Amino acid sequence: AQARLDEKDPQAVALSYVADSAKADVKKFPKHDNAQLCNGCALWQSKPTDAQGNCALFAGKQVNAKGWCSAWARKV
Ligand code: SF4
Repeated sequence: AQARLDEKDPQAVALSYVADSAKADVKKFPKHDNAQLCNGCALWQSKPTDAQGNCALFAGKQVNAKGWCSAWARKV
């Protein structure tokens, strides 16, 4: 299995990735909403039910289904 993306990974830090969307920095991201989750993001590439999944921005690493980063975009 692929390694989980670490929040301290430089690329994760650059996008303010958190494994738990509820821990996002709302001062920095006032539009953040706890309902915004990786598994509901347009860049999520795994099944909606997977606990960990691939993200188009983090090749070779898995992000948390309930995670979030500043590139979150609503699935259309
Ligand atoms: Fe999660 Fe979307 Fe950010 Fe990828 S781009 S880490 S799926 S919020």
